[in-house]
Amino acid sequence: MNLNLIKNIGPKTEKILNKINIFSVEDLVTYYPYRYNVIKFININDANESDICYVLATVLSVVKISFIKKNFNRLDFIAANNNISFKVTIFNRAFLKNNLYVNRKIVLIGKYNKIKNIFIANDIKFNVEDGTIEPIYHLTEGLKNSNLRKLINESLKLKYKVYDYVPDIFNDKYNFINKDKAIELIHNPNSISDIKSSKLKLIYEELFLYMFKINYLKLLNKKSNGIKKIFDENILNEFLNSLSFKLTLDQELVIKEILNDMKSSNRMNRLVLGDVGSGKTIVAIVAIFTNYLSSYQATFMAPTEILAKQHYETIKNYFEPYNIKIALLTGSTTKKNKEKIYEELESGQIDLLIGTHSLLNEHVIFKNLGLVITDEQHRFGVNQRNLLQNKDNKKESDVLYLSATPIPRTYALTIYGDLDLSQIKTKPNIRKEVITKVVLEKNIKEVLLKIYEELKLGHQIFVVSPLIEQNDEINLNSVYELKEKLSNAFNNDLINIEILHGKLNAKEKDKLMLDFKKGVIKILISTTVIEVGIDIPKASMIVIFNAERFGLATLHQLRGRVGRSDIQSYCYLVTNNEDNARLKVMEESNDGFYISEKDFEQRGQGDLFGVKQSGDMTFKIADLKKDYKILLQAKTDSEIYIKKSLFKGNCLYEEEIEKINFLD
Ligand code: ADP
Ligand code: MG
Repeated sequence: MNLNLIKNIGPKTEKILNKINIFSVEDLVTYYPYRYNVIKFININDANESDICYVLATVLSVVKISFIKKNFNRLDFIAANNNISFKVTIFNRAFLKNNLYVNRKIVLIGKYNKIKNIFIANDIKFNVEDGTIEPIYHLTEGLKNSNLRKLINESLKLKYKVYDYVPDIFNDKYNFINKDKAIELIHNPNSISDIKSSKLKLIYEELFLYMFKINYLKLLNKKSNGIKKIFDENILNEFLNSLSFKLTLDQELVIKEILNDMKSSNRMNRLVLGDVGSGKTIVAIVAIFTNYLSSYQATFMAPTEILAKQHYETIKNYFEPYNIKIALLTGSTTKKNKEKIYEELESGQIDLLIGTHSLLNEHVIFKNLGLVITDEQHRFGVNQRNLLQNKDNKKESDVLYLSATPIPRTYALTIYGDLDLSQIKTKPNIRKEVITKVVLEKNIKEVLLKIYEELKLGHQIFVVSPLIEQNDEINLNSVYELKEKLSNAFNNDLINIEILHGKLNAKEKDKLMLDFKKGVIKILISTTVIEVGIDIPKASMIVIFNAERFGLATLHQLRGRVGRSDIQSYCYLVTNNEDNARLKVMEESNDGFYISEKDFEQRGQGDLFGVKQSGDMTFKIADLKKDYKILLQAKTDSEIYIKKSLFKGNCLYEEEIEKINFLD
């Protein structure tokens, strides 16, 4: 349903909504609040200076307005609550003057200074009742919570269409409310129990659908027809013996698992989980080599152009002594070269094609594709898996995913339930550990001094901040503000400081990364968009502001951007929170799996082990960690459901299955 069916919605508002991925009425009604304010009136005696509170009061005096300067005014008056009178001050509300007459009942929202007997109000409301529940949404520039609420409530009046993906048997079993009701209540709850019942239904639904897809894919994989690969093991061993280093035990084990998969007539469908720097690339290279010895083509897909190029260079080196033809295909490959590549792929001349998403192009057709490797797997969702196909579709290529997202094994087994899992737990002993320090923002000088020292050594610095622009709701160090601060601290003429953020296009991002890699840029400030796998050997320090806003797994991944050569590297986690036991885990350990286990154990704030980024793992309401129990239930239920109904031909999920089958 088109957004312009809503009253009062114009192109400008539509554009703003698009920014938060709302393109239809259905998107709007399924844009759920992330928390609620419960409005509870308190007695002025219980109010204090540190917490925002709601106080029901009566206006006692005429309001005095002072116009301080343009766009800046102040109202002062006396009010009373519970027979205690006090001063009230509020800024920039001159327009409220006529509403604030003597004896008017109002609700003050703000903080109270007992000693000065003054209430500094952020807002004044007139028609709120005690106990009102106010949903709070994630916002974007130009969009206020109250406006978004209005739009959502207008949409709720329309005949929007949302499908309830929970099969009746489970709706009945758990006594779930129906989906329309859940949507209604999640935006306008009358009680805490309304919030609970609507959230439970919607969370379960999302997780059920997700687990259904995973379990269905697992089933498809079991039935799929793989290629039994035959090759000369002596040549493979020669290759392994020629490596300049000794493989770690974990690497050897994973290679063994992969070779077994490749030799079997079942299709390989394996995920290799290994921390940053654990040496996953060589494992992939061994698989490619084996595949080549078996006379099949392979393809290796990376999430960005830079990573693809990096792999291309590395792999070319390894295969130098062999007659293996390798090509690189990315967005910036010229048209002429692209056409040549397509031709040579189809005729079987190219043995290995490395590239980005460009590989998913319809012109990319292989003669006899035997192996598909995807690096940084968490970037690609389930619907994108298996897209690459052979010209003749009879046999299915082996598939290998590499991921640097360390997640606890039991957990990985669930969310990646359709894949076989291999883990590389130990890292090759070649690097110095990154030294990590949690620093309070008020002690920022210490960090600046360290940056200065590192710059003097000719090293480079990553600076990370969680947001691009100041958000009116939460006051965070935006990257722009940071740039200004750093430019002031260091002489900007001598030190090149640049900003990289999500709103830049891929080309601009790659250019900045390349300049940083070359050393042209000394300090790179960014949101979390910088790629995990990139080697910047001279980057010796990463400073993460508002570190408390990130989950431990994300922090660990960010930290993995430094310490990629033999120079000693540092990670500074800057925060305003005095209580930072959670962040201290980062000081303790450099082991991603240990950190993710800790993250998993600890309640409260945390991220989804970095898996959130991937296409279909961006849940609207479910939280893979907090809702883990529901996830497990959804897993069991979806397995039962698939067994029970799918093959009797009365599956409710035809639409979904079609999506999986066509995979795009
Ligand atoms: P990641 O798992 O993050 O992709 P890489 O595969 O890029 O890690 O490996 C990181 C570095 O470690 C590379 O320079 C690689 O050559 C090196 N390396 C990999 N395995 C070993 C090993 N067993 N011993 C020594 N160095 C290794
Ligand atoms: Mg890698």
